Amino acid sequence: MAETIFDKIINREIPADVVYEDDISLAFKDINPQAPVHLLIIPKQQIATINDIQDDQKELLGHLFTVARDLAKEMGFDETGYRVVMNCGEQAGQSVFHIHLHLLAGKPLGWPPYTDKMKQA
Ligand code: 5GP
Repeated sequence: MAETIFDKIINREIPADVVYEDDISLAFKDINPQAPVHLLIIPKQQIATINDIQDDQKELLGHLFTVARDLAKEMGFDETGYRVVMNCGEQAGQSVFHIHLHLLAGKPLGWPPYTDKMKQA
């Protein structure tokens, strides 16, 4: 499987602002934040997209969500609200093919991602 920029971050070959790490996951600040808080939570294991998740990796996926939950509490936006997103494939805007949860918070966030203007295009 092709290595991505996130493997280089896991292996400390390129720098990142890491906020959490354990044996199976890593969380760091997005280089191009789309909200006042924009973190990426990734498994250390290389999985390209949601389509590539195996049945025996369900626990790992659940783990990413518990990391998101704990970071939200630690950083103090668990009660005000936050968004967790995982893009899958080209039309969803996935650009790094190593699965990652986006954790966004810090201001009211827009919704929906598919607007009336886009429907007319
Ligand atoms: P995607 O578009 O695949 O859902 O999200 C990939 C995210 O990775 C983007 O939000 C992008 O800003 C972030 N990103 C890409 N390259 C780097 C990098 O080298 N360092 C960090 N911290 N974030 C990155």
